[in-house]
Amino acid sequence: MSQSLTIEPLGATIEVEEGQTLLDAALRQGIYIPHACGHGLCGTCKVQVAEGEVDHGLANPFALMDFEREEGKTLACCATLLSDATIEADIDDDPDARVIPVRDFHTSVSRIETLTPTIKAIWLKLDQAIDFQAGQYVQLVLPGVEGGRPFSIANSPQQVAASGEIEINVRIVAGGAGTAYLHEKLKVGDKLTVSGPYGRFFVRRSLHDATGVPLLFIAGGSGLSSPRSMILDLLDSGCNLPITLVYGQRNAAELYYDAEFRALAAKHRNFSYVPALSEDASGGGAIGAAGATGTIAPAKGFVHDAAREHFKGDFSGRKAYLCGPPVMIEACLGALMQGRLYERDIYTEKFITAADASKPRSAFFKRV
Ligand SMILES: Cc1cc2nc3c(=O)[nH]c(=O)nc-3n(C[C@H](O)[C@H](O)[C@H](O)COP(=O)(O)OP(=O)(O)OC[C@H]3O[C@@H](n4cnc5c(N)ncnc54)[C@H](O)[C@@H]3O)c2cc1C
Repeated sequence: MSQSLTIEPLGATIEVEEGQTLLDAALRQGIYIPHACGHGLCGTCKVQVAEGEVDHGLANPFALMDFEREEGKTLACCATLLSDATIEADIDDDPDARVIPVRDFHTSVSRIETLTPTIKAIWLKLDQAIDFQAGQYVQLVLPGVEGGRPFSIANSPQQVAASGEIEINVRIVAGGAGTAYLHEKLKVGDKLTVSGPYGRFFVRRSLHDATGVPLLFIAGGSGLSSPRSMILDLLDSGCNLPITLVYGQRNAAELYYDAEFRALAAKHRNFSYVPALSEDASGGGAIGAAGATGTIAPAKGFVHDAAREHFKGDFSGRKAYLCGPPVMIEACLGALMQGRLYERDIYTEKFITAADASKPRSAFFKRV
């Protein structure tokens, strides 16, 4: 049995199946409601219920406070309908967002590689072609794990089209059921259901092409996945604007795909690569950069400090794309905003886990 959901201000009415979340129903009809974690943790998908009744599902009490429930708010990613309803959502019109309805894919695991002591790369062979924008993510349904688990697609649309495989890079989270399953139980040949594509973390290509604004990517940990897909896509499609990747890891053993980015920096004059290690910087050296100037050892320090030093504290005239754990995003927002970038110049993808749900939201930034 289904019920009707009207989404304002679009005035669109869609059918929602019993037990289906409002977000899932909207995305499958090609209607984008802003969201991030996908399982009630971050509050990005908060909407106002103007008419009708909803079940709030697994909404985390910090992401949807009691007073907000009383005011008629709900989280679209975990709310289901108890009657026909109307919601008011904060729908923005982004000229670079393509309308790609979310679909389910049946996949089989074709390859697993240990990239670092904490990160595995997993390749999933799809049963049908996937259309996505570089930077977007998929949700994995895992046996015995409640709710989907989001992972960014780490290879480029061109690579996915050629191989029929998506690559995800998964960092193990202490006490996390989903990442433990992927690291410890998953085997080549296993079948997994994946849905996607999700998210609005992609390059604002029309803006860069029109204005020539350089691109700055800052990635921390397994947050390299989206920027890797975006950078490979940009370079493959002949973008000749200046592109910089500042990439932070704890130590040299964790600095995966380092050789790939050094090779890309050597090949493309417009691409610079700045690795940084927070715990040790084997080889020493000041701030590292690999590019036209040659290969230098990684910087020592946090990724936001490496970015600040590389750009001498002045980021003006750029657009920044940040991807990684919330603490890294917060530190980078501080550095970028002190360095003359504004909220409108910065796009973020926060790799939120359940443990982040109870932490305060950004003091710097309204969009996350
Ligand atoms: C858009 C997006 C894209 C992402 N892409 C990637 C990627 O490409 N690569 C990657 O490695 N990661 C990525 N992540 C992060 C990844 O999704 C999480 O690490 C993963 O979902 C964790 O799942 P889990 O089941 O292992 O842990 P979870 O169940 O999320 O638990 C994580 C931790 O929180 C604790 N916890 C559980 N419930 C609570 C609670 N109620 N209160 C406090 N603590 C709690 C757990 O014990 C555990 O320690 C992404 C996240 C987002 C939002």
